[in-house]
Amino acid sequence: MPSPTSPQTAAIVVGSGLAGLSAASQLIAKNVPVRMLERGVKPGGNSIKASSGINGAPTRYQPTHDNAFFSDTVKSAGKAMVSFTQHREILIAKVTESSKDAIEWLVQEKGVDLSKVSIMGGHTHPRTHRGAGQTPPGFAITSALLKSLNSSPIFQLQTSCTVTKVLHSEHRVTGVEYTSENGHREKLLGPVIFAAGGFGGDAEGLLAQYRPDLAGYPSTNDPRPGTQPLLTAVGAQLIDMEYVQVHPTGFVDPAAPSSPLKFLAAEVLRGDGGILLLNGKRFVDELDTREKVTGAITATLPEQALPKQWSVQLVLDEGVYEAARSHVDFYIFKGLMKRSTISDLAPGALGEISRYSQVVRGEEADPFGRTQFAHWKLKEPTPESVVYVGTVTPVVHFTMGGVVINEKAEVLKKDDERIEGLWAAGEVAGGVHGANRLGGSSLLECVVFGRVAGDECVEYIKGQM
Ligand SMILES: Cc1cc2nc3c(=O)[nH]c(=O)nc-3n(C[C@H](O)[C@H](O)[C@H](O)COP(=O)(O)OP(=O)(O)OC[C@H]3O[C@@H](n4cnc5c(N)ncnc54)[C@H](O)[C@@H]3O)c2cc1C
Repeated sequence: MPSPTSPQTAAIVVGSGLAGLSAASQLIAKNVPVRMLERGVKPGGNSIKASSGINGAPTRYQPTHDNAFFSDTVKSAGKAMVSFTQHREILIAKVTESSKDAIEWLVQEKGVDLSKVSIMGGHTHPRTHRGAGQTPPGFAITSALLKSLNSSPIFQLQTSCTVTKVLHSEHRVTGVEYTSENGHREKLLGPVIFAAGGFGGDAEGLLAQYRPDLAGYPSTNDPRPGTQPLLTAVGAQLIDMEYVQVHPTGFVDPAAPSSPLKFLAAEVLRGDGGILLLNGKRFVDELDTREKVTGAITATLPEQALPKQWSVQLVLDEGVYEAARSHVDFYIFKGLMKRSTISDLAPGALGEISRYSQVVRGEEADPFGRTQFAHWKLKEPTPESVVYVGTVTPVVHFTMGGVVINEKAEVLKKDDERIEGLWAAGEVAGGVHGANRLGGSSLLECVVFGRVAGDECVEYIKGQM
């Protein structure tokens, strides 16, 4: 085992989602060996499931000139901006101003197709990038990074091993303790980049502690314990732990309606023009922030208590279907959506869709303030008009809170001093999104702060030689 100061020192990366993979890519590019530890059987974490895309602005793929990413993010962060204001603004500036480079890095250096751009809730411009083909963006990005890393002899990924402790001396973090696949407790020495994701799947632990009101909600996250306590044990400060994003549209699978684990109905379906109906009526600007759309649903009585869920219809016309075809065909294949007609929707839906089509034609203003209609083209709806429909409900999706980091991805203590030898990136860290994350900004923060953490760790190792 090399000592923490030998030239052969390996950096330890905890978690193989997009934040960990981005950090490892920078380290490997600069010839620093990486030991990546992953608790899952397979790599990729929640990142591999991402289905709408990654934000970037301004980029060559965007159809409009976009200089509003920073201000949209601040607006979406909302009430959280009253505290840690300057700190948050620095992080938001870092993420939004690095977004163009992040997209270029993925496209140019890693060969990922991100040529298709959509608008999502809370954004004033289309800026969420995905590929033009069938491959979902989370899978496309994580598999490209993994493939490149796996081709390096100095990259080592160990799955089925769980980090249980961060080791530290008086002055710095010195490594981790973990349980390996065969159940043995092992120690690994070196600087540590923590990229272990959020706590949206920790229903009985951190979620119950910080948001007991969300008990019983289904989730898009696989069950797993949150890891922030491993970092607070070495002095890390926490922020925004109470801000948990409940995504308005998780599919209620007709084959397993009461499953607590839901498949996400990607926000891009609404971004490309889809609408939401509750008892046959629209009730919200479908492109408002996730917080507001969810709030409009949960202000009504749930249809069932456990899991706590509502019955909202997500409806697309043929224009929206064409634009989001790769997603919808996949959902139809999974039995989560079906091709149908308006006559099959809840009573009153025909009148509602007719009114909405008038709004899209510009004959009247939308009562909910929607101004972007994207690909909706149904002009004269009849009971026989074809629609694509799925039932959706709010789902616990993303945890905005986590450990406090600075713009160098260094983990900060309560006195704002950095913890030497420790960085964090991705959903395990907090502060970037405030009270509400914009769709597409999580993959982005993983790339931006993952790469920053990797670069900083390289400098740290060089400084130790
Ligand atoms: C269904 C779904 C769709 C989404 N779609 C989008 C989207 O389109 N755009 C977007 O921006 N965001 C999206 N998100 C959010 C985004 O995917 C995640 O927030 C982001 O990928 C988190 O990346 P990460 O690297 O921080 O963590 P993850 O990708 O979750 O990776 C963390 C890894 O750490 C491992 N780990 C945890 N604890 C330990 C431990 N103690 N020891 C070792 N390993 C550990 C986990 O097993 C996991 O593999 C989506 C999320 C979900 C669930």
